[in-house]
Amino acid sequence: MTAPTPSPTRVLVLNSGSSSVKYQLLDMADGSRLAVGLVERIGEEGSRLVHTPLRGGEKRVRSGTVADHAAALKAVAEELAADGLGLDSPELAAIGHRVVHGGLRFTAPTVIDEEVLAEIERLVPVAPLHNPANIVGIRTAMTLRPDLPQVAVFDTAFHTTMPEAAARYAIDVDTADAYRIRRYGFHGTSHAYVSRETARLLGKAPEEVNVIVLHLGNGASASAVAGGRCVDTSMGLTPLEGLVMGTRSGDVDPAVTFHLMRVAGMTADEIDTLLNKRSGLVGLCGDNDMREIRRRIDEGDQRAALAFDVYVHRLKKYIGAYYAVLGRVDAVAFTAGVGENAAPVREAAIAGLEELGLAVDADLNAVRSDEARIISPEYARVAVAVVPTDEELEIARQTFALVHDPAQEK
Ligand code: AMP
Repeated sequence: MTAPTPSPTRVLVLNSGSSSVKYQLLDMADGSRLAVGLVERIGEEGSRLVHTPLRGGEKRVRSGTVADHAAALKAVAEELAADGLGLDSPELAAIGHRVVHGGLRFTAPTVIDEEVLAEIERLVPVAPLHNPANIVGIRTAMTLRPDLPQVAVFDTAFHTTMPEAAARYAIDVDTADAYRIRRYGFHGTSHAYVSRETARLLGKAPEEVNVIVLHLGNGASASAVAGGRCVDTSMGLTPLEGLVMGTRSGDVDPAVTFHLMRVAGMTADEIDTLLNKRSGLVGLCGDNDMREIRRRIDEGDQRAALAFDVYVHRLKKYIGAYYAVLGRVDAVAFTAGVGENAAPVREAAIAGLEELGLAVDADLNAVRSDEARIISPEYARVAVAVVPTDEELEIARQTFALVHDPAQEK
């Protein structure tokens, strides 16, 4: 008698950007990583693939032009095959794709077919930088393994529970609806993962806790999560709204746009570039890396200090706003590059909020660790936590759960 074939447990997670593909191969039997890598500068000179096998073997780097996403994924497949982890492996259960914009239609991970791809395509006008690259990545992966379930995990999905009062802009309803203008929110897999991990850290079920999640990376967003459901988030129609970011302005008076058109003669595209690429920390002080900004502040640099103050002021404003939205807050969780590493940002954002039950313990805040941890003193009514995000694990979990239990697809 032959032993039954074990069901496949591996998931390849693909995050396809306009000129890059990030990937991770995970084994969902235990959530461990088998390989991680990145192809960058696709279609440009000096393309590079960096592949790291995590069960033995050295990191490998390939240089030379990678013409397009198809060539990039082919190279990734070759690297995985060289480690005995090829895409033809029967142990591969599915490929999970990060898709930035799922609009209102996609409220949960979704198995991709032509009709789903067409809908992702229809959303290109509201995500012109991201959805086209995601589509190319999906199409290429489908060609490589047409028989395998390909699952889209949407950045917007976690936020589809927002009530209309939070999601609607107060503009003419017919115009808004005709052009699908509303607040969608982004970084959803991170907000979902971190809010759940924060509940775990508190020893509670997600349904029992209200959490303010502060995802502070190069892109940054805040969310108010009540009992595991998102009730408000700071990014809107696009990932431009809300907090001050590395290169994005976050909130500005919309009149800035037509003022610049009329007074400075700038075009819509020029203003788009100004607000998305030449604003935020980089616009305020020339640097978007919080490490560099702190170093400059230590040397007495006034512009760096101003950038830090504007960044923290906005953050504090959102903490207060979401405190009011939630009514009761159990935890404030910091995550992503800045949130996980920049103790001065955490300290400054929480400073002065003692009346709200919020405080940071200086010693706990100074600890460097990859683990989720509480940094508020014992007496504080609200926990302040640092919770490392893991968007790839979350995408793999959602992908694997869907493939195993298709009933959960909405
Ligand atoms: P992410 O988009 O989550 O990868 O975050 C990237 C950003 O995190 C960088 O631009 C830095 O501003 C910030 N960052 C990363 N490491 C540190 C660190 N050790 N201290 C302060 N900020 C950091």
